[in-house]
Amino acid sequence: MTRSETLFQQANQWIPGGVNSPVRAFKAVGGTPVFFKSAEGAYITDVDDKRYIDYVQSWGPMILGHSHPSVIDAVITAVKSGLTFGAPTEAETTLAELVCARVPSMDQVRFVNSGTEATMSAIRLARAYTGRDTIVKFEGCYHGHSDSLLIKAGSGALTLGVPSSPGVPEVLAAHTVTLNYNDADQVREFFAERGEQVACVIVEPVAGNMNCIPPVAGFLETLREVCDEHQSVLIFDEVMTGFRVSASGAQGRYKITPDLTTLGKVIGGGMPVGAFGGKRDIMNHIAPSGPVYQAGTLSGNPVAMAAGIATLQELSASDFYPTLFAKTERLVKGLEQAAADAGIAMTTNHAGSMFGCFFTQEKKIENYRQVMACDTERFNRFFHGMLERGVYLAPASYEAGFMSQAHTDADIDLTISKAAEVFATL
Ligand code: PMP
Repeated sequence: MTRSETLFQQANQWIPGGVNSPVRAFKAVGGTPVFFKSAEGAYITDVDDKRYIDYVQSWGPMILGHSHPSVIDAVITAVKSGLTFGAPTEAETTLAELVCARVPSMDQVRFVNSGTEATMSAIRLARAYTGRDTIVKFEGCYHGHSDSLLIKAGSGALTLGVPSSPGVPEVLAAHTVTLNYNDADQVREFFAERGEQVACVIVEPVAGNMNCIPPVAGFLETLREVCDEHQSVLIFDEVMTGFRVSASGAQGRYKITPDLTTLGKVIGGGMPVGAFGGKRDIMNHIAPSGPVYQAGTLSGNPVAMAAGIATLQELSASDFYPTLFAKTERLVKGLEQAAADAGIAMTTNHAGSMFGCFFTQEKKIENYRQVMACDTERFNRFFHGMLERGVYLAPASYEAGFMSQAHTDADIDLTISKAAEVFATL
């Protein structure tokens, strides 16, 4: 028995499913989740002392790679001054200014502790601001696990939503409409019918929770247009894409400015941080400036702020993003070539430092239906083949992969050669 297997058995006794977040449990790919004990740069080490090249990077935050010295130093310095005060600190303003200066839509920002809190609060704010209840989201996008957002599409395109988890009231689901990602015509059709009821549209501007699906030309533009036409609030959920697909997020990359933006992951540098922000006249409605309640005992925590500040400062180097994006391209091109050489039908998507592989005959993957039609069994065998050979990929075929600054060309080439070995077995 490996030590991971032993620890997983023990964990199952005290923790539901042995994990504190479901996708970690390897339910999709099968087998026992790997328990890790340390990580540095592009590498992560498990409790059996096996090292892996890590393309999960804690699901996105570790854009500098693990244990980056300046982040670790900043955290240690902050820790020595006390863990939390529940009162304002200078670091909150420093990080707020760094974030607002970089993200075009943000005049003001409120820090929270997770992406879930950020999207939940942004939706409450949008509903209060517009005085409307209906929210529009897209199939395959994930915005955390608050009730209004754990809703999937009903049977027809323009019907009511249905809860995607027991415990979510149907009356809440009735206010959430789920449309098809990358389908601008459907968005127009819906808004023509019910636009005046829509408080907000929330979207992952690059979808990263159904593998990696960049927006097709015109999709985000259409969202901006219909929201302007109907005075609905456009929310970009940039929890994953923020500071990852460009220095100013997806809104900078695709040049569409939403009304509100949610952030998480990278802005916390590995500590639990989320944020939502936007135009001043909307943010003014948040308590204590306005009546929309939102709060948090540990929000703006000084240790988390220190990690975020150190991370964002590192991202300011002029060659940071070009270098990072070149690494992603090297990886996806290499994987595509290796698959083609082995006669495996596979295509890839990428945007900035996010990427995904799809085992399919199709050449272009642009929506949820196509993702669901991919060969999941083949992905699962690919995943385990790579794991065995020391490459840690996200343990599910519908998750994006992440590149970090710490991945070297040699790490990437090694990954490609391991993939070539695995492709030969598929
Ligand atoms: N929005 C997006 C786009 C996400 O990818 C995630 C998490 N993967 C969330 C929201 C929720 O963030 P958290 O897990 O920090 O609550």
